[in-house]
Amino acid sequence: MESKGQLDLTRMNRAVFEALEPAQLVELTCRLHTMAMELSERLALNSTNSSRPPSSDPPFGGGGDATGNDVGRRDGGPSEGATPPGAKAAPPSGRKPGKQPGAKGTWRDAPLKTERTESHWPVVCGHCGRAFEMWDAVVRTAEAFAVLELERTDCGIRIGCVQHRYEVMRCACGRETAASPGIGVLSFQGDRKRHLLLTERSLVGPSLAAFITALAVRHHQSRRRIREFLVTWFGVALAVGTLDRCLREVGVACEPIVEDLLEEVRASGVIHADETPWWQGVLGRWLWVVLSATTAVFHIGSRRHEEIRDLLGDAILGWLVTDGYGAYRDYARRQRCLAHLIRKGIALAGGLHPDGIRFGEWLVRELRGLIKAVAEDKDHTILNPIQARLKRACKLHRDHETEKIRALAREILNDWSAIVAFVTNHALPPTNNEAERALRLAVIARRLSFGTRTEEGSAAYAATLSVVETCRRRRVDPWSYIADTLARARTDLHHLPVPVAV
Ligand SMILES: [Zn+2]
Repeated sequence: MESKGQLDLTRMNRAVFEALEPAQLVELTCRLHTMAMELSERLALNSTNSSRPPSSDPPFGGGGDATGNDVGRRDGGPSEGATPPGAKAAPPSGRKPGKQPGAKGTWRDAPLKTERTESHWPVVCGHCGRAFEMWDAVVRTAEAFAVLELERTDCGIRIGCVQHRYEVMRCACGRETAASPGIGVLSFQGDRKRHLLLTERSLVGPSLAAFITALAVRHHQSRRRIREFLVTWFGVALAVGTLDRCLREVGVACEPIVEDLLEEVRASGVIHADETPWWQGVLGRWLWVVLSATTAVFHIGSRRHEEIRDLLGDAILGWLVTDGYGAYRDYARRQRCLAHLIRKGIALAGGLHPDGIRFGEWLVRELRGLIKAVAEDKDHTILNPIQARLKRACKLHRDHETEKIRALAREILNDWSAIVAFVTNHALPPTNNEAERALRLAVIARRLSFGTRTEEGSAAYAATLSVVETCRRRRVDPWSYIADTLARARTDLHHLPVPVAV
């Protein structure tokens, strides 16, 4: 019935099979079997068993699975507790990452050269409460330490080294009082040996810490690369552990801001929400984003329905723009992203089934037509027939014998009001591109670094991302805001609200 080697699948159907002789049927079955074997082998190819680059591997379990069985979810996400491709290669040694206990440490071989000194004096006497006057005696220096700080010059930036001196003064009452550097939040860091105390007694100043955060979060550089960069271009040597500490400090300083941002998102008229797979150590987690026009909040957690409920609460007044994931279905005022449906239509149109091709092409054309008509502000004489045609085509295909066609038709019918909400409510966008764009930065980070390691790391990363993306949406510089926030957190001052560009 067709040339040897190539099977023409489009011409096969039940009637053709029924007309075949038993011998022909066996022959055909064998060839179909061979083809199925080849295809399933091709599906199981990845960077470990073919010449494909590692970047083509999915971020979830399928990578090294010899059986080709994706243990993940229907939509390709990791299941809870799945293993990232990188973690499969070597058996775990049981050691923690980083320097091992007892390993030889490294020290700065020469003390830092300070360019100038900055003195700090006590304001009031610690014993009688009298305010110090200019002429009160400075007895000695209680402590002094060097701080590296990023400074803006007329034509760029440099890193300066300032010695901060904390002086002791004697009051008229005869007692002495020492000035001391500010102390901020103490953050408990799970299984770490030392908890993280935010304090002004720190080698890295707030602006330099913000600069390091920008290199890591916005420009995707590893701790080691940042170290190399600072040595090469500024002649400043900082240990990888010091850089890591800066990033964690910024995360801790940003965390209290997230609660404020979440309130603002909840109160807005149109809220976008989306989620993407994320790695936390060897755990498969999900990175969620909820955002309004001016505010974004990221959250790393499970994919359970409660996560979105915890983020948004039960009683949001605005509209939610989402993809088709079930967690969002409980919200009545919802716009479904049409770009997702158009992509499903394109996949169907590119398939082999003639009915699927027709239905897919037709769906894509009508959905695009609807988006265009709404954008051009057409009235109901144009809009209603398009919707009627869409609905009719889906009803025609909802009991189709092919599962993919049937599933898409039913999906559209079941979610109909969320699909066409934007036709009557002009504040609603027809796609969820806003949220998908906001997730881009994190998706690139996941591919480069395989996510975060710990619960604390995830919380810090999500908080930093929230502040950076919110500033970006408000057209203000995130890094000077982060530097200011860190400076305040190190002296236990409450953070300032994220500014809005005027
Ligand atoms: Zn006194």
